[in-house]
Amino acid sequence: MNEQIQLLIKSGTVCNLACLYCGDEVSGQKYRMQLPTLIELAGQIASLPKSSIVVAWHGGEPLTAGQSYFIRAIEILQSHLGPNQTLLTCVHTNGLLINESWMALFESIQAAVSISLDGPDEFNDRYRRSEDGNGSFKNVLAALHIAAESDIGVSVSATVHDDSWMIAPDLLDICRSQRVNQLHFEPRVNRGSLRMVRSVSVMAFSQFVSALNATRKGNEIYSDIEIPTLGEWSSPGEGKPSSCMFCRERCFSNLAIDWLGDVYPCDLFHGNASMCIGNIHTRPLSKILSDDKYLLYKRSASVIPAICRSCPWAEKCCGGCPYHRYMAFGTFERPSLYCCRAL
Ligand code: SF4
Ligand code: SF4
Ligand code: SF4
Repeated sequence: MNEQIQLLIKSGTVCNLACLYCGDEVSGQKYRMQLPTLIELAGQIASLPKSSIVVAWHGGEPLTAGQSYFIRAIEILQSHLGPNQTLLTCVHTNGLLINESWMALFESIQAAVSISLDGPDEFNDRYRRSEDGNGSFKNVLAALHIAAESDIGVSVSATVHDDSWMIAPDLLDICRSQRVNQLHFEPRVNRGSLRMVRSVSVMAFSQFVSALNATRKGNEIYSDIEIPTLGEWSSPGEGKPSSCMFCRERCFSNLAIDWLGDVYPCDLFHGNASMCIGNIHTRPLSKILSDDKYLLYKRSASVIPAICRSCPWAEKCCGGCPYHRYMAFGTFERPSLYCCRAL
């Protein structure tokens, strides 16, 4: 039995923010995954040859579904697990609805909670704001404060913009002062959103990573903040079980399932109809994973681009994240848009 599969449940398009770079079309029609779809999914998970099931709630704002929906959803997933399967729940939230009651619920199921924050107030609020222009920073700070009081702690998830390198030390300071235990980051990329904001450049992304690394390395006070992506890049596979970290071995342990039951190899491909590999209402997940379409995706995304084969980083990088390859050139045969050799 293979170890782990990470299923990202795109729970819907309902959100209480309207971030300028959102790829989830939250301003259009409102959808939420209905319980029959979740029950169908839960039944299919049980037949997967995976012992560790990681379910990440993401897409729209999952907490807008309310606690009773969430409690029922966890019950459904738990009750359908196979005899040798365990469930780890991850919740990725914008933080606006976080309160003691939500944190008590997450604590009761030992969920991993991650809150989006891109940097200090004005920086964060430039993109992360509501329809009426109110930034999320103040609420996120309050949410981090509440979350840090719980036994499970909290992580921050930052989207990297063109000038994020300037605020890397501020971001670390916020994490330290709010007792955040992990900092995740990812480049801002276009995802066909109506709110399209152009992708962060390779130079800017690289400057942010360097600034973050240098700030943390040079200062003991940040040593309690784990930055899994940096750890994975320096020693892939040695970190704790986690999401892909843009690392190929983990890439193929990820799937995204949306509110209609459509399945994608990764959340980033969501909305690109040609990358949809099936729907759980017409074909079980176990079959979808052995269908030609998914196998072809895996084969194509596994190929190390020709230009990468002589690269000293190829063993660790493998040509980079398949989405970052595909989004830039419409093919997996070119290196990642975020290839450091493009600098
Ligand atoms: S919090 Fe922002 S990025 Fe996330 S779904 Fe809502 S609008 Fe989109
Ligand atoms: S496509 Fe990229 S972001 Fe998605 S799972 Fe694979 S490595 Fe991770
Ligand atoms: S994407 Fe760039 S860094 Fe990665 S293996 Fe290819 S050439 Fe090397």
